[in-house]
Amino acid sequence: MEDIGKSLTEQMQRHNWSKRYNELVETALNDPDVKRFLAENKHLLTKDDVMKSISKLYEYVTIKQKMAQGEQTFAPGYLPTLAVSKHRIEVVYVPSEQLLAKRAKQELDARVKMIALPKSMRQAQLVDYDRSEERNEAFRAALQFTNDYAKEPKKFHKGLYLEGSFGVGKTYLLAAIANDLAKRGYKTTLVHFPSFAVDIKGSIGQNKTTEYLERLKKAPILMLDDIGADSLSSWIRDDVLGVILQYRMQEELPTFFSSNLSFEQLENEYLAINNRGEAEPLKALRIMERIKFLADEYHIVGKNRRNP
Ligand code: ADP
Ligand code: MG
Repeated sequence: MEDIGKSLTEQMQRHNWSKRYNELVETALNDPDVKRFLAENKHLLTKDDVMKSISKLYEYVTIKQKMAQGEQTFAPGYLPTLAVSKHRIEVVYVPSEQLLAKRAKQELDARVKMIALPKSMRQAQLVDYDRSEERNEAFRAALQFTNDYAKEPKKFHKGLYLEGSFGVGKTYLLAAIANDLAKRGYKTTLVHFPSFAVDIKGSIGQNKTTEYLERLKKAPILMLDDIGADSLSSWIRDDVLGVILQYRMQEELPTFFSSNLSFEQLENEYLAINNRGEAEPLKALRIMERIKFLADEYHIVGKNRRNP
C-alpha cells in the first residue's frame, strides 16, 4: 500500500512540476518580442537550442513584465534584450534612453561648477537671452567667444568684463556662456567672488587656503562674478585676486568678470583704496593690467530684471 501511495505522490509532483514547466515554456514562447527574436535568428538556433535556453527567455519575459507594471528590477534603468551566443540565448541588459539621458545631464551639470550662485543660473541659456539694442554688443561678444573657443580651445581667447548696474543680467549672461560651453564639452567655474572671498578668509588656519586658490587659478575657464561688490582687503586683492589673475595671464586661461563698476572705477576707487582707507594706486594698477589682459570691457544697460 505504502509503495503505491509514494509513487502516486511522486507522479503527482512530477505532473505538477511538468505543468509548471509547460506554463513557463508557454509564457516565454508566446511573448511577441521573443517570437520576433526567434524568427530573426532561426538560422542560428535549432529547436533544441531554444529549449536549452528556455530559462533565459523566461527571465527576459518576466523582467519585461515587472517593468511594465512599474516594479523595481534588479538593475534599474537597464532594459533586457536578447542575444545569441554560441547556440545559446543570453539576456543582455542595456541602459535605457532615460538612463543615458540622465547620465548625459549629470555630465553636463558637472562641467559647470557654480560656487555661491543662485540655482536658477543652471537654466540660463544664450538662446533665451534678451537682445535689446544696448545689450547686443556683449551678447555678440559672448557668441563670438564660445565659437572661437570651441574652434581653438588651446589658443588664448580674451574673456568678457561685463559692467552694468544691479539686475541687468550680467550673472545671467555669464551663466549662459558657461552652460553653452558645457554643451560643447568644456568646463567652467563660475564663482560669486565676494562669497568666495569670505570662504577663503575662513579657510585660513584649516590648511585649505591653497586648495581653494588652486581651484580657481587652474579652472579651464573662470568667471568671477560681482567683483567690486564688497569691501576689499589688501590680502584678498594682492594674495588672492592678484595671484589668480597672474597665473591665468601667464597660462593664458580664459577669464570673465562681472561688476557694477567700470574699469575706471575699479582702478581709481575700488582697487586703489584698501579697507583701512589707505591709497595704493600702484597695487591697483598691477591688478588692472591683468584684468585688461584677460578681458574686454562691455557696458550693459537695461531695466532691473529683479524688480520689474
Ligand atoms: P545682475 O547679475 O546684472 O545683477 P542677474 O543676472 O542676476 O543680474 O539678473 C537679474 C534677474 O533677471 C535674475 O533673476 C535673472 O535670472 C533674470 N534674467 C537676467 N537676464 C535674463 C534673461 N535674458 N532671460 C531671463 N531672465 C533673465
Ligand atoms: Mg550678478
